[in-house]
Amino acid sequence: MADTTDVIVAGGGLIGASIAREMRRRGLHVTVVEAGGLHGTASRAAAGMLSPFSEVAGIDPAFETLAAASLDRFPAFARELAEESGVPVEYRSAGKLQLAFTEGEAAHLRGRADAGDAARYGVEWLAGDALRALEPALSSRVLGGLRIDRDASVDNRALVDAAVTAARGAGVHWLEGARVAAITLDSASNPSRSTGVLLESGTRLAAEVVVIAAGCWSGRIAGLPAALPVRPVRGQMMAVRLPGPFLEHVIMTAQCYLVPRGDGRLLIGATLEEAGFAVGPTPGGLATLALAAAEAAPRSASLPITESWAGYRPGTPDGRPLLGWHPHVANLLLATGHYRNGILLAPITAEIIAALATDTPPPVPIDAFSLARFDQDTHG
Ligand SMILES: Cc1cc2nc3c(=O)[nH]c(=O)nc-3n(C[C@H](O)[C@H](O)[C@H](O)COP(=O)(O)OP(=O)(O)OC[C@H]3O[C@@H](n4cnc5c(N)ncnc54)[C@H](O)[C@@H]3O)c2cc1C
Repeated sequence: MADTTDVIVAGGGLIGASIAREMRRRGLHVTVVEAGGLHGTASRAAAGMLSPFSEVAGIDPAFETLAAASLDRFPAFARELAEESGVPVEYRSAGKLQLAFTEGEAAHLRGRADAGDAARYGVEWLAGDALRALEPALSSRVLGGLRIDRDASVDNRALVDAAVTAARGAGVHWLEGARVAAITLDSASNPSRSTGVLLESGTRLAAEVVVIAAGCWSGRIAGLPAALPVRPVRGQMMAVRLPGPFLEHVIMTAQCYLVPRGDGRLLIGATLEEAGFAVGPTPGGLATLALAAAEAAPRSASLPITESWAGYRPGTPDGRPLLGWHPHVANLLLATGHYRNGILLAPITAEIIAALATDTPPPVPIDAFSLARFDQDTHG
């Protein structure tokens, strides 16, 4: 392989693969360095919900703008990746039901339905009977809840496969089984600038621009003035086999979510644990999920478990991603820390990072996602 290129992307999960594909479409020569074989990569562990309303709407305006822009792009993104790769990605736009079991939860959700941004996401409050008319599998204990019409979902494992295949098909050089140990710097320039990467094998690769997209492992890449503030937040999940039609919508409660897949599986997730890189899943985590799922849809308790797993969300101190140029290292782009929403945020992240690498303005404002917001911690 050539040992110089326009761009090196460290990490080939959904974020890295989507960025590499988008950059290649804009004419850049891109190499993705993907470690391969790590336990718990987030893009494969996720549930694939595309849910700006429940996650960030009404809480964080800058984040909502980012997430809503990505949701808008998702149908075309999913269709194009499927066409380019030949991998069906099961984009479903059936919406989500967010359930209340107590008067307190009902009051909270009714308030959300009345908020100004709710109409944009097709949100309405429905009583328990109306919800059970839509989804007969729901428990008689459900008091009511929100129907969020614009929420969608995608088969995230298929989507990663599609993104990797599409990127490689477009001409991205894919270095599988190689790990970036450090960013190499030209410290004589001011500010210092990245010159490429040092692989764990000792090989150096040179590039004009380097992108860190290594999920929760991004904080372990050496060579920077300070380690990136990204940590693993473990999520456990399981899948059960459905006997036949069971749920159309994604179901969410305060304790769990249920995500139907077209292949007859129902995903039940997810725990949210500060467990470092501890390997999962655990009996305690799965038991919590099973009980919460049975509260929403009692028959789920007797369905056969086909799989259980755990993955690591790339968390940041404020829950927002890190997007854009590193404030103290020139030529280094950050695309990490997507925490609970990296599947949703893949299309907009790819556009933002590819725009910056080609000296064009990003499609949405990104100041709120700069590493500079943690400056006292990261300028060593
Ligand atoms: C249980 C769970 C449920 C989730 N549900 C949802 C959801 O419903 N909707 C949603 O939008 N998001 C969800 N998320 C979050 C989402 O999965 C992540 O935000 C997103 O997948 C992050 O993608 P990524 O490519 O940055 O990270 P990853 O998918 O973890 O990919 C990082 C890649 O970098 C590679 N790598 C690591 N270190 C190096 C290195 N030094 N050199 C080279 N390669 C390296 C790894 O091998 C890996 O392939 C969920 C996450 C979890 C864990």
